[in-house]
Amino acid sequence: MVYKNPEVKKAAQQLKIKLEKLEDKRAILRAPELGALYGRIKTLPAGEARAEFGREVNALKAELEKLIKDSLPTTHYPLHPIDVTAPFDVNVGLEDRPKLFTADNGSRHPLTTELTKILDIFARMGFTSVQSRELDDDYHMFGSLNFPKDHPARDEYDTFVTDEGLIAPAHTSIMQNRVFKSMDMPIRAVIPGRVFRNEDLDARHEHTFYQLEGVYVDKGINAGHLIATLKAFLEEYYGQTLEVKTQPFYFPFTEPSFEFALSCPFCRKKGCHICSQTGWIELLGCGMIHPTVLREGGIDPAKYTGFAWGVGIDRLVMMKYAVEDIRHFHSGNLKFLRQFT
Ligand SMILES: [Zn+2]
Repeated sequence: MVYKNPEVKKAAQQLKIKLEKLEDKRAILRAPELGALYGRIKTLPAGEARAEFGREVNALKAELEKLIKDSLPTTHYPLHPIDVTAPFDVNVGLEDRPKLFTADNGSRHPLTTELTKILDIFARMGFTSVQSRELDDDYHMFGSLNFPKDHPARDEYDTFVTDEGLIAPAHTSIMQNRVFKSMDMPIRAVIPGRVFRNEDLDARHEHTFYQLEGVYVDKGINAGHLIATLKAFLEEYYGQTLEVKTQPFYFPFTEPSFEFALSCPFCRKKGCHICSQTGWIELLGCGMIHPTVLREGGIDPAKYTGFAWGVGIDRLVMMKYAVEDIRHFHSGNLKFLRQFT
C-alpha cells in the first residue's frame, strides 16, 4: 500500500516497524501514532483534502488489521464431535436447546412413598421388613407352601417361567420359608415385593403389581390376633376407625383361610362408587399358616402357630386416594404422577 500523504506515509513506516517487534500484534491499533492521525482529521478544514486524508488513515488501519490477522498462527479446528445419542445438537447454545426436564423435576413414585409409610407403621408394630425377590424356584413358589405337584390350585398362580424353570413369582409368599428358617421366635415380618400374574387387564387387575406379605409366628397365636393386627394397621394407614369382617376362603398355605374386608373408608358404609354401593371393600387374603408350611420352614406346629396375609400395595394406595384405575400406576403418565408430589 502506497500512501500519498507524507504524514500517513511516515506513520505507516513507523507503525510497521513497531508491529514487527510487538508480541501482542493487536496492540498496534492502540499505538499513539495511529491515534494522532485520527486526531489530525478533525483539525483539517472540511473539504476534499480532509476526506482524502481520512480515507488514507482508514486504509492504513485496514492494512494494519490485515497484517495482524496474517501474523496469527493458522489453527485447524477439528470438526465438532457429534453425540448421536443426544436428544439435541450438543453444540448449540443453551437458549437453542429444547426445554428438557431437569433432575429437580423428578419425584418419588406414589407407590414408593406409600410403601415407606406402610413399612413405618409395621415397624412401629414390631415387624421386620424383608425384601422379596422377582425370580424364584418351584420349591419356594409352590412346594414350600403346600401346593402338591400337579395340584389344580397351582393354576390360580399361573405366571411366567424362564427356560431354566425359574418362576416370576405370583405372590410374596415365596419368602415365607426363608423367613421361617432365618428368624428367631417370635417371627414378625412384612415382605414387600413385585409380583406377576397371568391376568386379563382391567381397572382393578394388572399383570404386574406390588404385594405386601406379612407373617407372625409365636406360641398361642390365633385368628383374633390376625384380625386385630390388620385392623390396627388399616386404621392407622387410613387415619380413621374402620369395621372389618372376614369370610371363609381357600388358600393351600393357610388353614383356615379368610377373605378380609373393611368398611369403605370413603362412604363409611353408606355406599359409593368405590365400594360398588356395598359399603364394604374386599381387600386381602389371609389365614392361619398351614401346619405343613410351618413344618417345611423348620417350625414345630405342635408348639407354634402363626398367621399370614398378602395385600396388594397398589390396591391399598388406590383405596386411600380413590384412584379409579390400577393401570395409572405403571403408565408413567405425568398428569397422574404429579398429583402426588
Ligand atoms: Zn363406599
